[in-house]
Amino acid sequence: MMDGTETESRKLLRRLRDAMAEDRAGQARLDNITHLIADSMGTEVCSVYLFRDSETLELCATEGLKPEAVHETRMKMGEGLVGRVAKTGSVVNAADAPSAKGFRYMPETGEEIYSSFLGVPIQRLGEKLGVLVVQSKQAREFSADEVYALEVVAMVLAEMTELGAFVGEGAALSARHQQAVLIRGTTGQEGAAEGHVWLHEPRVVVTNPIAEDPHKELTRLHEAVDTLRISVDQMLAGASGGDAEQTQVLEAYRMFANSKGWMRRMEEDISRGLSAEAAVEKEQSAARSRLSQVTDAYLRDRLHDLDDLSNRLLRILTGQGRDTGAEMPSDPILIARNIGPAELLDYGRSLKGIVLEEGSVGSHAAIVARALAIPLVIHAGGLVTEALNGDHIMVDGDQGIVHLRPDDTVVAAFRDKIAMQAKAQERYASIRDKPATTKCGKTISLHMNAGLMADLPSLEGSGAEGVGLFRTELQFLVRNQMPKRSELSALYAKVLDAAGGKRVVFRTLDIGSDKVLPYMKPNDEPNPALGWRAIRVGLDKPGVMRMQLQALLRAANGRPLTIMFPFVAQYEEYTAAKAEMQKAIERERILGHPLPEKLEIGAMLETPSLAFAPDKFYEEVDFLSIGGNDLKQFFFAADRENERVRRRYDTLNVSFLTFLGNIVKRCDASGTALSFCGEDAGRPVEAVCLAAMGMRTLSMRPASIGPVKNILRSIDLDGLRRVIEDAGLRGDQSVRPAVLDYLRKQS
Ligand code: PEP
Ligand code: MG
Repeated sequence: MMDGTETESRKLLRRLRDAMAEDRAGQARLDNITHLIADSMGTEVCSVYLFRDSETLELCATEGLKPEAVHETRMKMGEGLVGRVAKTGSVVNAADAPSAKGFRYMPETGEEIYSSFLGVPIQRLGEKLGVLVVQSKQAREFSADEVYALEVVAMVLAEMTELGAFVGEGAALSARHQQAVLIRGTTGQEGAAEGHVWLHEPRVVVTNPIAEDPHKELTRLHEAVDTLRISVDQMLAGASGGDAEQTQVLEAYRMFANSKGWMRRMEEDISRGLSAEAAVEKEQSAARSRLSQVTDAYLRDRLHDLDDLSNRLLRILTGQGRDTGAEMPSDPILIARNIGPAELLDYGRSLKGIVLEEGSVGSHAAIVARALAIPLVIHAGGLVTEALNGDHIMVDGDQGIVHLRPDDTVVAAFRDKIAMQAKAQERYASIRDKPATTKCGKTISLHMNAGLMADLPSLEGSGAEGVGLFRTELQFLVRNQMPKRSELSALYAKVLDAAGGKRVVFRTLDIGSDKVLPYMKPNDEPNPALGWRAIRVGLDKPGVMRMQLQALLRAANGRPLTIMFPFVAQYEEYTAAKAEMQKAIERERILGHPLPEKLEIGAMLETPSLAFAPDKFYEEVDFLSIGGNDLKQFFFAADRENERVRRRYDTLNVSFLTFLGNIVKRCDASGTALSFCGEDAGRPVEAVCLAAMGMRTLSMRPASIGPVKNILRSIDLDGLRRVIEDAGLRGDQSVRPAVLDYLRKQS
């Protein structure tokens, strides 16, 4: 039976290939294919349903159902048995279809006389394209071999669809990759950009899904797998002696490359008539569709491994390397499912925009994109399969929207927006060297946040007075191994050189929580944001902190030095960290190295507890900087990384502003210098409210300095403070509406 069906399926595929080779128009091709399938499978009906949009399926060709129903019969995802196959991405095999769960009678098709139903999804690499159905009058369940054969045919149909086999004159389908598409994602970094698509991982195109000679295909597969295994072994050999974690990951990877099940399934697919490439891709599609259903992190990682191995194998088989010979456009917008920070840095500032299908606001790639001030949209589902290299694309980082192949009206509106932003930039440039002095005569000091050498040129361009927050962990995050002290010290020295005497506040390593170093064993903590992170790691395992403090002292080489400890929750943590600093100084003194002519040691105020620390803490600390991103998440108990709750609480909530006001009062009373360096400092409305609450130093993304200075120069902080207080007295939840009203009247 098995052999017989194999031959049948191979025969069917051969007939399919011959049909494809005929010079027919799109619709005629598809009609012919349904005829061939029905004939080969001995069923009265074969129909192809394809997606019209993400929710609607359309009957596009049929053998056996009423021809008038073609392009007329439509159904929603999940509707009827066909809709069920589409929605679940799995096979429906029913001997008595009318009594099967979800059956919907569609009189216009004349299908009421058919009893058995077999529907399989047409999908390619996790993207749903449609449903392939066979039906017969005889009530019977289709055999496993028949199901398998139909799945193989569906896979070939998916490939042909991707290759555009059904478009053109008499099109059954409108051409893929040609229409305008709007994708809604999430803002990763503000800004608007227009350019052309550059795929980080260009798609491998399989042009020969059907095997001519299965024996030859098997040999090709075996040779390609051998090459793959050798390259994985080489990767492993290259990593041995290095980090144990990395080796473990690669070992798991090697296990997959040697997996017998994977190999067997691909061999079976080839014996059924698929080419080696199509067999690999079929496995990859299966992994992708499982990936969309699995939530377990470990399993997801393994499925990602499988996906990655399949990609490598496809590249070996097709000879299509990463470098496809395509030339990077002059205005590239990078499209990727996800990307690591080091890879992103390799592209550097050449990119005009970045769109990721995955990623998160706090991901390392997002941090790098922000540092490079490149507009970024994340969670842009479906873009990687939809976009082609060179497609025209517009990225709206402010709204988190992507326009792929936009039509003329969108292009015009978008260009207006870019022009308006450019005008605003001109206005900001004109006040670059002027102080941020308000109408009521108060001057606010504006500094920039940084973390990479690439940020430093902005110090000049933005008009920042200094670097109010240098996130040192970025240097650790973008590498594959722990940097050496000498490397760090050279880098910090370069930062100080580039700052040319302007103050740079180096924050010591803030790892843990969302910032996990690739070469450190991740801790399995139930609540990482509340876990072993930042100064807690530094004090418990002081080796790295000592190394970093020493690197900073050496980098300063006698120049003034400012250091800030992150995530201090109580006074004793500050004194313990400061004691480490004293020890480091002592060591340097003994070694005869120059000591900083001035040393300031501050703390970040990121936990509400520190707002209530004893007076002696406020008297002792050289300065405090409010890390509003963390402080707000702990104040409202709302995870800053959780899209569901992130925006639920307004920074301008009366309780939060009152709390910030109390911190200002304590600092005023003890004469402690205070700044605010969370993202809110860079949002103009929030920034003026922080200033109205008494903050005199704000540190933000360089691109925000212009807009914030612009609004500060036009505002009367005393008036704004009264508006905030009145809103509080009235019992408003947030002062935002009242503040916006005030700002509107002022402008
Ligand atoms: C903050 O928490 O506000 C902050 C500036 O630090 P990070 O965003 O790096 O946690
Ligand atoms: Mg923080």
